Amino acid sequence: MSGFDFDLVTIGAGSGGVRASRMAARLGKRVAVAEESRVGGTCVMRGCVPKKLLVMGAHMAEEIEDAAGFGWDIGDVSFDWGRLVSAKNAELNRLEGVYHRLLRDSGVTVLEGRGTVIDAHTIAAGGKPYSAEHILIATGGRPSLPNIPGIEHAITSNEALDLLQLPKSIAIVGGGYIAVEFAGIFNALGVAVTQILRGEATLRGFDQDIRAALDEALVAKGVDLRCDTRVLSIEKVAGGYDLRLSGDESLRVDLVMYATGRAPNTAGLGLVEAGVRLDANGAVVVDEYSRSSAPSIYAIGDVTDRMNLTPVAIAEAMALVSSLYLGAPRTVDYDNVPTAVFSMPTISTVGLTEEQARAKLGCAIDVYVSRFKPMKNTLSGRDERSLMKMIVDRATDKVLGIHVLGPDAAEMVQGFAVALKCGATKAQIDATIGIHPTAAEELVTMR
Ligand code: NDP
Repeated sequence: MSGFDFDLVTIGAGSGGVRASRMAARLGKRVAVAEESRVGGTCVMRGCVPKKLLVMGAHMAEEIEDAAGFGWDIGDVSFDWGRLVSAKNAELNRLEGVYHRLLRDSGVTVLEGRGTVIDAHTIAAGGKPYSAEHILIATGGRPSLPNIPGIEHAITSNEALDLLQLPKSIAIVGGGYIAVEFAGIFNALGVAVTQILRGEATLRGFDQDIRAALDEALVAKGVDLRCDTRVLSIEKVAGGYDLRLSGDESLRVDLVMYATGRAPNTAGLGLVEAGVRLDANGAVVVDEYSRSSAPSIYAIGDVTDRMNLTPVAIAEAMALVSSLYLGAPRTVDYDNVPTAVFSMPTISTVGLTEEQARAKLGCAIDVYVSRFKPMKNTLSGRDERSLMKMIVDRATDKVLGIHVLGPDAAEMVQGFAVALKCGATKAQIDATIGIHPTAAEELVTMR
């Protein structure tokens, strides 16, 4: 047995940190995890889970509208934001309890308080030092806001999840995942949403047709989408905020929310002093085995700024535990990682966009596109179309990318991601019998 207090001490009890700690403890290692906030981290407490619950609540506004076309007369309806937030918080409390129980049952010691690194084998938590053979940094990220006059008046997704009441109007700044998801939530719940982004369309890096279709849908649903626009300053005025925008424009709203990216949580952790190299954005620099530049210190998840997705952090955790304690060094394969944006409508994607495929293979690709009215909209009368795209390598017939915008996109793409991982060809997808009547069958009948 080593002379250390623990074999592994993890700083940060989010999805990645909890998984690595539990797995190591189940292998008989002595493990502690330090957490300054709530066990569960960004995904469970401030991200994926609460956001998705709010998205579900927001979708119900559309479901209620759509019901009339199916014969339902629904009288006066009202919506209670406070009740949704309370119900969401009760669920988060339950999940926090589950996480605590999982850690306890695996034999992991939870150290309450901020963890900091003292040296390559020592951390401090709650004012006490603990030694460890290995230290794992899994501290995640936090919202990153530009430094403009009045930025202190802006909220982020952290606060948006717990507003005491819904504003009448909101400006959402940014065009990424978080901005479009919250634009969808607030707009569906009756808030006048102005989304302000510096780019020419939302979701930079996604397939161009998908971006265009989402922006069209956002506008059709009533979002005031201001592309190629910058916020120059925010001023608090009686009853709201005045935003000065580029192009000599201004905007008055009740609330301002920024979703302009996230930054790794490394400040004040003592990492550099312990020999851990950080990149220009403050992310821990790691190799493919999640090893930092200090031999006993490792990092996984958003703090490494590789691919900021919960399932990726969990995969990095499992690979690290395998490398450290199972004698089976493992890396994570970052190719064909599927992802979803829970915008309204939902987007989900796996593999290369058309633009990425063209950059790689030039004209040697085939692109299949299908735009159609989802069956439900024939009766609901909702004028909204789904979009599906498949990108195929003409020489090998391999499917390079699948992109879906529309109801249940994420549920569909998860399955097709397995096919891409297995190297599926278009001929194999074509040979698959569809499930009728579904939207997903479109993907196996694209010609
Ligand atoms: P993103 O990186 O997705 O988007 C940031 C947005 O802010 C972009 O539109 C960017 O513009 C814009 N921006 C950045 N800096 C400025 C600035 N100074 N002024 C104006 N606009 C600016 O970040 P998010 O905060 O939306 O999300 C962070 C990460 O969290 C995501 O990348 C994703 O990995 C993860 N996430 C995943 C979710 C999911 O899986 N469903 C949900 C939420 C988050 P430009 O494009 O021009 O750079």
